[in-house]
Amino acid sequence: MLDHAEVSPARPSALAPNYHPLDVVLTAGEGSWVTDVRGRRYLDCLAGYSALNFGHRHPALVAAAQAQLGRLTLTSRAFDHDLLEPLATAVTGLTGTQMLLPMNTGAEAVETAVKAARKWGYDVKGVPDGAATIVVAEGAFHGRTTTTVSMSSDPDMRDGFGPYTPGFRIVPYADADAVAAAIDETTVAVLVEPIQGESGVIIPPPDYLPRLRTLCSVSNTLLVLDEIQSGLGRTGTTLAQELVGVRADLTTLGKALGGGLLPVSAVVGRRDVLSVLTPGTHGSTFGGNPLACAVALAVVDLLTPGDLQARARELGAELRERTDALVAEGLLRAARTVGLWAGLDVEPALGLSGRATSERLAARGILTKDTHGSTLRLAPPLTISSDDLHLALDTLTAVLREEAAEAGR
Ligand SMILES: *Cc1c(COP(=O)(O)O)cnc(C)c1O
Repeated sequence: MLDHAEVSPARPSALAPNYHPLDVVLTAGEGSWVTDVRGRRYLDCLAGYSALNFGHRHPALVAAAQAQLGRLTLTSRAFDHDLLEPLATAVTGLTGTQMLLPMNTGAEAVETAVKAARKWGYDVKGVPDGAATIVVAEGAFHGRTTTTVSMSSDPDMRDGFGPYTPGFRIVPYADADAVAAAIDETTVAVLVEPIQGESGVIIPPPDYLPRLRTLCSVSNTLLVLDEIQSGLGRTGTTLAQELVGVRADLTTLGKALGGGLLPVSAVVGRRDVLSVLTPGTHGSTFGGNPLACAVALAVVDLLTPGDLQARARELGAELRERTDALVAEGLLRAARTVGLWAGLDVEPALGLSGRATSERLAARGILTKDTHGSTLRLAPPLTISSDDLHLALDTLTAVLREEAAEAGR
């Protein structure tokens, strides 16, 4: 029988080569586990870069989607539907914000925040038309559209895609003084990730976001936090900004908001800011569609009791203890953890890249992915069992010890 996944060397792939995935072809998933086309099972410790915070096919999310499929899936925003206002109420309630604007992908949510901030700058702050600037951070990841790559300092993401959208000032991450120096009367927003995910779970010092909050407040500048990866439970709080008691003016959400079933994103924040986007000035055919709203409402229901956030804190303590031990043993150069999220820098002295380590882990049934060459990111579903988490960490320990033994030879 011809295996669907097998590409014969005679027939080149019809798929564009913009990804270099691990050599695994998945066909099914349930909870924290996925199965490949050969029937091998793997523990998913990447969880769709936090899009799968509730695991694969969470029963409550699948049930909500199935029920909605039998009712209404799309209206476009030309007509209202009965889940739009409930979604806005639910997500703003969960996040302690005032207003929601629904989109689909994360990049679109960031683009929406950029547009809202610019329009607010012209309409409210009085910035001369076309002069608005936004301060962003080195190492950031905000998406792959032409404007979001214009906010990036990563040559892989940027190079070859110019001309770039003007109006961004890129300053070092976790450096509040650099932000202060970059803000002037044209600055409409400071837009950063509260913790940089794609960069390898980079956690700024605890006074960074509070200082940005103060700088923005005194200069009448919007603080926009991109919580597309850090938000919705990953860090042990609903939003990562809660860890340091900061409230953004606008926050972008995505990934987990769609429960791993479909793309759902949003900008939430201040009513007076989002209100600058009047009818006709912004929109999306699929943004806030009934199917997306049904799933996102079920996501909010999962997060409302706070159990999953507590779980991320409790399992996160176990994750930290074990990854710190790997650093102490000399098997990792550094481990950065927050909630159920870890950026692990492999030890270059062991002579192996993050990629090689993730390949070895995959061969032993643990899926994760390297980022920026020498960093592994662990972001298992928040629903993972403690036993499964320890299985992943046992396997990681065994693989790193094996690498160390080989390097010693
Ligand atoms: C993933 C991500 C995005 C982009 O989301 P897409 O859905 O891939 O467009 C933006 N910002 C952050 C912080 C992300 O992690």
